[in-house]
Amino acid sequence: MKTKILKPSAKSISQAAKILCAGGLVAFPTETVYGLGANALNAKAVSKIFKAKGRPSDNPLIVHVSSIEQVPSLVKKIPNNAKVLMNKFWPGPLTLVLSKSPEIPKIVTAGLDSVAIRMPAHKVALELIRAVGFPLAAPSANLSTTPSPTNALHVFEDLHDRISLILDGGSVRIGVESTVLDLTGRTPTILRPGAVTLEQLRKVLGKVKVHKAVHGVKSKVAKVKSPGLKHKHYSPKAKVLLFTGARAKALAKIRKEKSALEKQGFKAGIISISSPKALAKSVFKKFREFDTQGVHFILVAGVEEKGIGFAVMNRLKRAASKEIKA
Ligand code: AMP
Ligand code: MG
Repeated sequence: MKTKILKPSAKSISQAAKILCAGGLVAFPTETVYGLGANALNAKAVSKIFKAKGRPSDNPLIVHVSSIEQVPSLVKKIPNNAKVLMNKFWPGPLTLVLSKSPEIPKIVTAGLDSVAIRMPAHKVALELIRAVGFPLAAPSANLSTTPSPTNALHVFEDLHDRISLILDGGSVRIGVESTVLDLTGRTPTILRPGAVTLEQLRKVLGKVKVHKAVHGVKSKVAKVKSPGLKHKHYSPKAKVLLFTGARAKALAKIRKEKSALEKQGFKAGIISISSPKALAKSVFKKFREFDTQGVHFILVAGVEEKGIGFAVMNRLKRAASKEIKA
């Protein structure tokens, strides 16, 4: 299958809409990472996403809408706190997990009774969803386990023989996936940290928990609420070593480790961006660049687990084979 990469325009968006209406797949930009979309109400179309990505069928997808008005038919009930959050953070990088209506095919939610929904803050994504008139199920547009795609070229690298169209909206603004917040239990619970931060959510909701699987990534959690957390994710081919603790000490350790590795004949790359926001924006891109260069080890300096730093550190910990505390 030949893959076209088109700049967004009225013409290319209508071409994309045609593919989606016919039950096909289209990759499109969002503010977080690129998504691979299909008609969320068409089980056969959604099954193509799992096939193209090599995604395990027990990992549910996020349903993307272009307006709050689209939500009621997708869920059993919209709790008050969900209304407040939609009004405050949508469009934006916040995914809400609510109890699902029968409208949503089982394949989308991997058999769960809940469905994850968000409205992306990206003109192209919103125009595309409006053009088709149905919600789009869309995970990140990469092969399962590789770093999430933050530009159209990344999508092409992973999926070029598997999908027919990529809408190229340039580099994304945020760079890590959305915050996933479960509202089906008694206390709102973060299942995946993202750019809408724990601190922001607590300000609005009061009590907000962080699911233990977010912290204990490598522990075997028998029954995870967010099945995505048990899968390997975000990994470059190179081994990632994460250096945490006081920054100056961590940087000194990184330099020492790099020269030790190079003496043994290994290629090593360093990521030492200190701004959590800037690190979020470029970490997946750096992973891919180092892989292209054939680097064996990527040495990363951690950032404080606060604000968006919590999201970046979550991805880094999941990608890392080892955490070294300075
Ligand atoms: P991705 O689409 O690749 O960004 O991954 C979507 C994430 O949302 C996965 O980690 C899923 O586990 C999570 N997710 C999607 N639907 C649900 C749901 N119904 N309940 C809990 N988590 C969900
Ligand atoms: Mg993903």
